[in-house]
Amino acid sequence: MSRNVLVLADLRNGGLRNVTFEALSAAKKLAEGGSVYAAILTGSGAAAHADALAQYGAQKVFVVENAALENYVPDAYAKALEAVINESKANVVFLAHSAIGRDLAPKLAARFGAGAVSDIIGVEVDGGNLTFTRPIYAGKAFTKNVVEGDLVFATVRPNNLEKSEPEAGKTAEVVNVSVELPADSLRTFIKEVVKKSTGGVDLSEAKIIVSGGRGVKSADGFKPLQELADVLGAAVGASRGACDADYCDYALQIGQTGKVVTPDLYIACGISGAIQHLAGMSNSKVIVAINKDPEAPIFKVADYGIVGDLFDIVPLLTEELKKA
Ligand code: FAD
Repeated sequence: MSRNVLVLADLRNGGLRNVTFEALSAAKKLAEGGSVYAAILTGSGAAAHADALAQYGAQKVFVVENAALENYVPDAYAKALEAVINESKANVVFLAHSAIGRDLAPKLAARFGAGAVSDIIGVEVDGGNLTFTRPIYAGKAFTKNVVEGDLVFATVRPNNLEKSEPEAGKTAEVVNVSVELPADSLRTFIKEVVKKSTGGVDLSEAKIIVSGGRGVKSADGFKPLQELADVLGAAVGASRGACDADYCDYALQIGQTGKVVTPDLYIACGISGAIQHLAGMSNSKVIVAINKDPEAPIFKVADYGIVGDLFDIVPLLTEELKKA
């Protein structure tokens, strides 16, 4: 059964996030003779991203460029995406499982009377239906969800679907979609954007994360972790314990009420391994735990454990890695 699959490009800090390419790669497998499309909703500068989307499989790139889309405004984005879905005759819409995707997917699904499934980590074609895999119970179990109907929305967890190789040199067929978004038709508007820096590497897409817990003891205690992260090209994350103690910003929090991450390597320093923390990182490919308590629960999920003081071990690791 052929289907048109539309992927909403996830733009962050002027660039496309990897999850967009991962979703496009999955879309190619699902289309079965239908088409793979991408959508860019933005205030300006869409042209800079269109070819990259084509190289990962988008046969057409639907673009809505409108000043009202400069920042995320739910009403404006919903109207723009609705217009693209109508224009593209999409049957499946993939969005990133980000704050924006989590907001937009159910909104649009309600508008179209369609089904929605969130936080998917896999999708298969099962006869005429699509079966989505998603984690439940803080990652302890997985469910398979079949969503019936001609249109389905799914939010995609970053770093889980396999990304295909890009087709170098391919250029996009761009379809401009015009949508009226007068300010008085929007119920919310952005007065000011205050950007918070979480370091150079985007936590939810990082391949390596060095994470600190209450064991780092102070904001200064994060310095050796940052140095290790710099050597590895990694992002720095944290437990809620560290955030609550004001050692770092909540933007770094990983876990049930923080970010969910699936890096290739997760180095947990001075983190006990509470279930709520594990919910955010236990699907990491390789977990290294550094903790001075040999009974700390983090060692149960760790592939490699180092029992000792993080203030001795982390600088030693950094020094060794600098030599490599
Ligand atoms: P602790 O549990 O205090 O552990 C500190 C660890 O550091 C200890 O194991 C200790 O042995 C070790 N240590 C101390 N000094 C050193 C040293 N010098 N060298 C090496 N090791 C050292 N937590 C999250 O992380 N993310 C969430 O999203 C989250 N959501 C929650 C939601 C709810 C509803 C609730 C109730 C709780 C949530 N929590 C969350 C909190 C969670 O239960 C834990 O309290 C928290 O994860 C503990 O943080 P921690 O491991 O840094 O601190």
